Amino acid sequence: MTTVLRWVITSLLLKVASSPLDVNARLAVLEEPWLSPTNCELIRDPIRVEPLDEITFILRESPCVDQEAPFLFLLMGTVRALLVDTGTQDGVFLAEVVSQKLAENGFGFTDLVVAHTHSHLDHRSGDETFVNAGAIVVGHTVEEVQKFWNLEAWPEGVASIDLGDRLIEILPIPGHNDNSIALFDHRTRALLSGDSLIRGNINVTDLIAFRQSVARLARFVDSVNPSVVLGGHLERDNVPLGLAPASVAELVVLSERVNFVRPFASGDHFTIVYLPVVLVAIGCGVLLLIGGLISRLVLSAKRRRM
Ligand SMILES: [Zn+2]
Repeated sequence: MTTVLRWVITSLLLKVASSPLDVNARLAVLEEPWLSPTNCELIRDPIRVEPLDEITFILRESPCVDQEAPFLFLLMGTVRALLVDTGTQDGVFLAEVVSQKLAENGFGFTDLVVAHTHSHLDHRSGDETFVNAGAIVVGHTVEEVQKFWNLEAWPEGVASIDLGDRLIEILPIPGHNDNSIALFDHRTRALLSGDSLIRGNINVTDLIAFRQSVARLARFVDSVNPSVVLGGHLERDNVPLGLAPASVAELVVLSERVNFVRPFASGDHFTIVYLPVVLVAIGCGVLLLIGGLISRLVLSAKRRRM
């Protein structure tokens, strides 16, 4: 397809979809809630596809395929498309879904950029399939992420990518993972927060970086006024996926409460878990248990000899 023809098709589709999109209203009327399935045998599709409009898709891996069940996002403009995260699987089925949606809008894989909210494996396991298909796939290290988005002062600064009449801004928010980013879509005004702000447990590996990131995120949210925050997972049943932008303020407060003595802080929608402290505590517990068992064995062996 020629570039001109593609532009015409996508422009027409954009015109159809150009009326203001109320993301929260659309999220509220999705056919079924994002529940954990009670019977996986009835669920065939490994990925649930929910269009917000013709050029915006929420893709959720089935919890029957992997309990992480991450949310992925496909956003299209008039000149290129952006896939946010590639999930827990090899990407073959995901690529079929994405290919179909791209084709419907006059795009192919070479028009696709694949980015990641962060580099944990449940967000990038399908990458190789997209590399092989010809998409531009952002790397996983901080250096690669920084270089691709041209964020010279990482983690300071904001980058952007223009999909064509659709600007996406990228804000570094390390702390959950050293290369975490948030993405703000100007079309839907949705803020994609990865695992740094979800309904569930928010694991923090670098607390200082996390506190600085959420402070920057709060300032960013104040400046762009998002319609909704969409995280990479939904770990609680009977709740909507979307979080109100005010939840960022809650994140700031809770991130200040967490420390070496108190590694958990819970709010209305999520719990921050300071993971290194929890892991050290578990490790110490295991060591104490093993030490206790060994001393009991030594004592009983001594008694038998007496
Ligand atoms: Zn993660």
